[in-house]
Amino acid sequence: MTPVLAIHGGAGTITRAALSPEQERGYHEALDYVLQGGQRILEHGGSALDAVTEAVFRLEECPLFNAGKGSVFTHAGTHELDASIMDGSTLAAGAVACVKSLRNPILAARRVMEDGRHVLLVGEGAEAFARAAGLDTVPPDYYFTEARYAQWQRALAEGRSGLLDHDAQTLAAEPLDADTKMGTVGAVALDARGNLAAATSTGGVTDKRVGRVGDSPLIGAGCYANNRTAAVSCTGSGEMFIRMLAAYDVSALMEYRALSLAHACAVVVMEKLPAIDGRGGLIAVDAQGNVCMPFNTEGMYRGEARTGGPRLTAIYR
Ligand code: ASP
Repeated sequence: MTPVLAIHGGAGTITRAALSPEQERGYHEALDYVLQGGQRILEHGGSALDAVTEAVFRLEECPLFNAGKGSVFTHAGTHELDASIMDGSTLAAGAVACVKSLRNPILAARRVMEDGRHVLLVGEGAEAFARAAGLDTVPPDYYFTEARYAQWQRALAEGRSGLLDHDAQTLAAEPLDADTKMGTVGAVALDARGNLAAATSTGGVTDKRVGRVGDSPLIGAGCYANNRTAAVSCTGSGEMFIRMLAAYDVSALMEYRALSLAHACAVVVMEKLPAIDGRGGLIAVDAQGNVCMPFNTEGMYRGEARTGGPRLTAIYR
């Protein structure tokens, strides 16, 4: 069994025309750095859980992606972050939603999982729990980036809310297009013991209503892992991923209909989600180490690394 890690940094209308060569290089370098962190853990015999935690932690720290630093703005000009993690070997899971002061929501989700009493904590309760666990808190302006502020201003001016982050990225240059960007981050991994894990983290969608929670912190919707089937992390129009239980649906198609990982992912991303206008993609790895990264948008920031192998990163189709 060769351990493997896959990551995503969101999907959306990511076209060659929208990214300069320097921006493109910046994304590839960032994705490579994230893969490196998880790959090293797996190479040293570490767990899939630790690899996905480290990868998502690095993605949260990077302002290029819509999670942790660099999160999108709500309609009130604030930031509300969501994250989740799941251990495929035990079906243990943890998540936080609507947190406004945690530097790394994924670490809080992991603590919720390890604590074991609850699966999902929201708002002030989640923040108090994370503070008591010794996790870093930050002032509201920590999440601020010029680029996301400009996206939000543009969305406000055009009266368009709920834009996916990478869709909104093109706003500066072009008229507002609903079909443009999502920037959630995620990671899935298989370790040397055959265990699977998945993690997802997001700032949500641009100009979202205060209190809105998407699929990312919902186990089964934006994140799912089960050693019997697969580990899955999603990105896209969260409301549709919730209605479709997209991550769990991949697992269910494999378990109940004996579909391969590739077939199950294609059914969910290319057939079932588009049928309800669900835009986005997912990354998934099965218990045999097959990796799938389908998306129904123009692009998805993504990467994959096996232990001892090259680190591969991609943006476009
Ligand atoms: N799925 C995320 C949400 O709806 C957004 C994204 O993937 O960019 O909150």
